[in-house]
Amino acid sequence: MAPSSSSSTPILLTGSCACNYVQYTSTRLPSSVINCHCTQCRKLSGGPYQSFAEFAPGTVSWVVPPTFRRSSAVGVRSYCQRCGSSMSMTYDFEPEQLGIVAGTINDDDDGDGDAEKIPKPRAHIFLKEKASWFEIPEDGAERWDAYTPDVEEALQRLEKRREDRAKEGS
Ligand SMILES: [Zn+2]
Ligand SMILES: [Zn+2]
Repeated sequence: MAPSSSSSTPILLTGSCACNYVQYTSTRLPSSVINCHCTQCRKLSGGPYQSFAEFAPGTVSWVVPPTFRRSSAVGVRSYCQRCGSSMSMTYDFEPEQLGIVAGTINDDDDGDGDAEKIPKPRAHIFLKEKASWFEIPEDGAERWDAYTPDVEEALQRLEKRREDRAKEGS
């Protein structure tokens, strides 16, 4: 049974970690799904890549929140404090936009087919760190050595802002 929402917006998707401690709901489908082949994502997922479902700001609510930790100069990841499942990733330039680890999304629990409407992955990123033993299937998704160009631009703007601030402070 899907958890009930106090707001009038119906819940489309639910998700949880492997032990079911961390739980979330979403009122919208993700706008896109991206497969990240970076070393951190490989090691955290235990597979050749980690899939992230990108949710617009305000569309995901944590029922039981995960533990957040800074994982790089530009990003914060989260995980379940009980079972260790990776849960999410956010970039500093867009902290409201949530990349949910796509494998944590529950299959349809109410039989209305919403989970089947999640878009197919649109891009493989960080192929410069791809596992040599893994071959990407011909799936029609974009392929990038590092970030997608839109994220690359946003990160450069963030870096510039931080440099300017550091200069002002000195
Ligand atoms: Zn857990
Ligand atoms: Zn990654």
